Amino acid sequence: MADLRSQLQELFGLEEFRPAQREVIEDVLAGKDVLCVMPTGAGKSLCYQLPAAVQKGLTIVVSPLISLMEDQVQQLRDEGIPCAFLNSALSASLRRQVMKELEQGFDGLLYVAPERFFSADFQELMPRLRVKLFAVDEAHCVSQWGHDFRPEYLRLGEVRQKLGGPPCIALTATATEDVREDIIHQLGLKEPTIVVTGFDRPNLRYASRRVPKAAEKGGELIELLRAEPGSCIVYCATRKAVDEVTSLLSASLRDRPIFAYHAGMDQAARTANQDRFMNTSRAIAVATNAFGMGINKPDVRLVVHYNLPGTLEAYYQEAGRAGRDTLPSRCVLLFSYQDRYTQEFFIDRIGQDNPGADPKVIETLQSHARQKLELVIRYAQTHRCRRQMILDYFGDTSDVSNCNCDVCRREEQLPDSDVASQVLSDDLITLVRQLLSAVARLNGKFGVGVVAEVLIGSQNEKMQRWGFDKLSVFGLLRAHSGKRVIAMLHRLMEAGLARQRDPDGVKFRPVVELTATGVAVMKGTQLPPASLADLVPRRSSSGSASVRISRETRVVPEESGPLDAEATDRFERLRSVRQDIARQKQLPAYCICLDATLRQIAATRPDSLSSLERVKGMGPYKVKMYGQALLDAMR
Ligand code: ADP
Repeated sequence: MADLRSQLQELFGLEEFRPAQREVIEDVLAGKDVLCVMPTGAGKSLCYQLPAAVQKGLTIVVSPLISLMEDQVQQLRDEGIPCAFLNSALSASLRRQVMKELEQGFDGLLYVAPERFFSADFQELMPRLRVKLFAVDEAHCVSQWGHDFRPEYLRLGEVRQKLGGPPCIALTATATEDVREDIIHQLGLKEPTIVVTGFDRPNLRYASRRVPKAAEKGGELIELLRAEPGSCIVYCATRKAVDEVTSLLSASLRDRPIFAYHAGMDQAARTANQDRFMNTSRAIAVATNAFGMGINKPDVRLVVHYNLPGTLEAYYQEAGRAGRDTLPSRCVLLFSYQDRYTQEFFIDRIGQDNPGADPKVIETLQSHARQKLELVIRYAQTHRCRRQMILDYFGDTSDVSNCNCDVCRREEQLPDSDVASQVLSDDLITLVRQLLSAVARLNGKFGVGVVAEVLIGSQNEKMQRWGFDKLSVFGLLRAHSGKRVIAMLHRLMEAGLARQRDPDGVKFRPVVELTATGVAVMKGTQLPPASLADLVPRRSSSGSASVRISRETRVVPEESGPLDAEATDRFERLRSVRQDIARQKQLPAYCICLDATLRQIAATRPDSLSSLERVKGMGPYKVKMYGQALLDAMR
């Protein structure tokens, strides 16, 4: 089939196949059943159009969207490919004409709206048709778990039988495991080739920002939009939120054109706003999920979700409106836990518009919707690669490389110097290393919960069964609650010292493992980032944000008063050594030692590592790391 490519060029005027198109087409031409899962715009239509154009016979294409059907038929006719359609929009005389052509052995593509199969004349005709290929577009409509289930789709298996069981290609953009199984079952696909591809969007930088207080989201949003001069879309969960965000942005970003869009606005206003968004540069659209059908603005640089969407499919689709031109673009989810209640409210209302519906079915639909919501929440909170999580969700096995998502970039962004004039105390460094050691001890085989149980020394049967109670780290953080230890482990992941991963073959039950930086910090060859200075929450009585963990005092009386000339000279040399260390470790100088500590060293002139350890601010860790260099500096 070496000439498939030339047929692609001659018939469709396209240069190259996109990923997987060729494989799918070869299987279709070989008469196999195929399930093809690719995102919108990936080029699914070609997977049945090209076979239909190159092989003799009738290809029936089932498609639920009349407007798309007419567009496609027109395009194919323009390319000189024989093509017809049957739907409710067709006049009676045109319909008769199409039926007559079919009787006479029409050779080409016939697009059919699913309900048309059940008209009396078509039913009568079906057994006589010689169908070469049966293509079902938007195949997820056969599944009650899909987002737009259509009852007529349920009978397509029967239709296929009546047509003599021709080879079938089912195509969809949304198919999670359960939907996929439904498609195979309902359409009676036999050992189908399943191709899932095209979901990876390497130019998109996915990120999630946890905003604990919903009231703070406005500020976050404005900051994001100020930093992005290109076109932006802000998705909100409700019309009310759209109105509020629009007023907020109109007041704060006066130099930017801002357009609202939701289904509560009248059609003319909606269309006008959509057109203006399409044609204005630097524009910001604030919208509900009603916005976007048919929007193909290639240069949207940022899509922010102001509220949590209900499913990862919805998130992927909406966020995916960024960067259609393949240039780097951002997709940021502003996550606050309260948002789940809005989605739960929507889920509770499933079935309300349909009072006659079977309560069992409604219950199952709601339970599916809750599971899907849970996965979006996991996505928002994950410490594993977000791009990978999306691919796993859709079942796309492409390899992620050079990812720019916030989780993957964390390590690169270290060290973090944004905590002003904080020094990490030795106790805090020890705490971080204890947490990391426990992660390391469990070998990346367990989740955060188990690591925490080990650290607090949980007395349960599991700990004994697995022998965790024998580990050196067992009970090391007995003084803390499990909840607190879990929170601290999450902080370490946010700081890039550890990450989550779904082990092969197990989806969405992440284990935790160390990153390279985490290993270095655990071994003591690198300091933890300064952002962890408040890892242990402040004590309310101390009134200071600094870390206060019990520590024995080992203090030399503080030298007061100015340094003499020699001590000043030593102080300068110490500072210069500290500078070198800081540069080498890529840490702010204050993280190595405070000026006050260096001044003390200069004044008291310790001559050994052990005497250096008695200087306030120099704990065993710092002495081990920098002690020798500091002593050398004074010689
Ligand atoms: P889908 O059905 O997956 O949403 P379409 O089949 O409508 O996507 O294709 C989207 C666009 O991509 C169409 O404009 C189509 O012409 C174009 N396209 C498909 N395959 C190729 C290809 N191999 N090379 C270039 N353009 C392609």
